[in-house]
Amino acid sequence: MKVIMLGAPGAGKGTQAVRVAAAYQIPHISTGDIFRANIKGGTELGKKAKTFMDAGKLVPDELVCDLVVDRIQQDDCKNGYVLDGFPRTIPQAEALDAAVAAIGDKVDYAVDIDVPDEEIITRMSGRRACLSCGATYHTKFNPPKAEGVCDTCGAALVLRDDDKPETVRTRLNVYHEQTQPLIDYYNGKGILVTVDGTQNMDKVFSDIKEKLGE
Ligand code: ADP
Ligand code: ADP
Ligand code: ZN
Repeated sequence: MKVIMLGAPGAGKGTQAVRVAAAYQIPHISTGDIFRANIKGGTELGKKAKTFMDAGKLVPDELVCDLVVDRIQQDDCKNGYVLDGFPRTIPQAEALDAAVAAIGDKVDYAVDIDVPDEEIITRMSGRRACLSCGATYHTKFNPPKAEGVCDTCGAALVLRDDDKPETVRTRLNVYHEQTQPLIDYYNGKGILVTVDGTQNMDKVFSDIKEKLGE
């Protein structure tokens, strides 16, 4: 199964993508995680991406598309994958379509997790991220067992630089301008699934599973 997670920053794409990956035994591919790993590792790609990310802007398509197209051609993607944070622009969606069409395949579902902007702003201030393994927590809605420590790998949790309220507002504007058009794009292809992302995490997941089928 090939699934795309759509939704505003903080809608719960990462949270649900991890669950979808486990339930359908497919890899979870997060472009945000890939960039953050590159920033941590001090790579050229990381250096280029960081300026855009810190400003709340999108990393240019040419730095993202080849990276994802290469990743989905790896062996572990044979039975599908869940893409989290990609595509984020129409050109990215077209690049993905071309890559899957080239192997005679197609994307099965684009899942839009719908959350209004006001809720995003409050939600993001409580997000805590593990930059070692990509796990995400929330101080109130999904706290780690020990405060400030990742349950999975034991690393220290951080408030991401780009999760500060002023940057979140920029990211929401960028989302509405550049990413929201993908909802119509995938609706037009007949593969759009919409879930109410304001419900609790378990309910959001059971709605997704119901729409994706077993
Ligand atoms: P969120 O979890 O809030 O949706 P991500 O971790 O997916 O954020 O992405 C963080 C930042 O990384 C984005 O604001 C953007 O700068 C960059 N980024 C991630 N994926 C993409 C992409 N597909 N295209 C362009 N930029 C991206
Ligand atoms: P995205 O990947 O779309 O940016 P995340 O999955 O990182 O979003 O979720 C953003 C924040 O909101 C995290 O702190 C996460 O724990 C929390 N969160 C995710 N889903 C829900 C939900 N249904 N209700 C409340 N908080 C949630
Ligand atoms: Zn961790």
